[in-house]
Amino acid sequence: LSAFRIAPRLARTYASPAAPNALVFLEHRNGVLDSSSLSALTAATQLGGQVTGLILSGPESSATAIENASKLKGLNKLIHSTADTYKSPVVEAVTPLLKQVLSDSTYTHVVSATSSFAKSLLPRVAALLDAPQISDITSVEHDASSNATTFTRPIYAGNAIATVKASSSIPIKFFTVRSTSFAAALSADVAEASLETLEPVSAGDVPTEHLKTSLTKSDRPELGTASRIVSGGRPLKDAKTFEDTLYPLADVLGAAVGASRAAVDAGYADNSLQVGQTGKVVAPELYMAFGISGAIQHLAGMKDSKLIVAVNKDPEAPIFQIADVGLVGDLYQVIPELTEKLKAS
Ligand code: FAD
Repeated sequence: LSAFRIAPRLARTYASPAAPNALVFLEHRNGVLDSSSLSALTAATQLGGQVTGLILSGPESSATAIENASKLKGLNKLIHSTADTYKSPVVEAVTPLLKQVLSDSTYTHVVSATSSFAKSLLPRVAALLDAPQISDITSVEHDASSNATTFTRPIYAGNAIATVKASSSIPIKFFTVRSTSFAAALSADVAEASLETLEPVSAGDVPTEHLKTSLTKSDRPELGTASRIVSGGRPLKDAKTFEDTLYPLADVLGAAVGASRAAVDAGYADNSLQVGQTGKVVAPELYMAFGISGAIQHLAGMKDSKLIVAVNKDPEAPIFQIADVGLVGDLYQVIPELTEKLKAS
């Protein structure tokens, strides 16, 4: 990181050590904050300085978004901006606003969840400001005396942990946060943060446009935040078998349903259910893997689960190396039996 060149303007602005002053980009759906943004806020508070939230919304959801965000514990100040283009924003429309907010201030850190949107937004703005970006961090520590920030982040599909130090010579540090590594920030009963309203910043001719959002509707808990997950792999045969076999167990446990990429690629399960390196990263209290071999790309998404239960008919399956409880057996016998026993208990 020390190899990064610092823009002369930023270098002048931030020449002397300053207390951390973090800006957290908060994401929401219809004013309800994403839980991953709440984890990003927790990471920002661990820097030990001031924390400001930035929330953007369309006119319909702005009142709810502001109300919810300004009650967040740990937030000293909230900046909000409302515009039609911020209702379902594309990153090109938000970039000029974030760049302006940062150019006019003395923020030392820019923080967000590792969400699809922020993974595109933060590096984009960081590049425009000639600043470095550290992605998907799992811990953060700021040394006030040296003004350096040290992060850890998984690399090689979680098989190694890199410790990355952003030195004091880097005036503004951008980082995205792995939500499973930080607890969600809590809300107070009343608003605690001071409020500032910003005029939207025109992005000019934006080359991309939001056309529609297609949401997968489910009555089950959301995979990314569920405390229990029941997951299935390739031997689930087809979409109907996947549902008929896994869903009754998930219902008894109040669990979310997950899938390996093999199950998703074969069309048994929706894309949104994929767990792993190229799917969701989860860390529930209980992760049950049925007919999942335990490829490293799958483990990358679930190995931090508190209790891993694996059922596989191959005693040599790699999943057993990380399972807390393993059962060599046929999932078609085990799942119905387990479901019935749980129902009866
Ligand atoms: P398999 O590997 O075929 O394993 C099926 C298992 O089921 C076997 O262990 C078998 O013994 C067991 N089995 C069979 N029948 C039964 C039965 N009746 N009862 C009990 N057990 C049974 N994978 C992911 O999951 N998530 C990712 O995000 C992901 N990202 C990837 C990214 C890249 C770049 C690449 C190259 C691969 C990625 N993969 C990912 C794919 C990964 O490498 C594996 O191919 C995939 O995880 C295998 O899925 P599976 O375990 O369901 O299938």
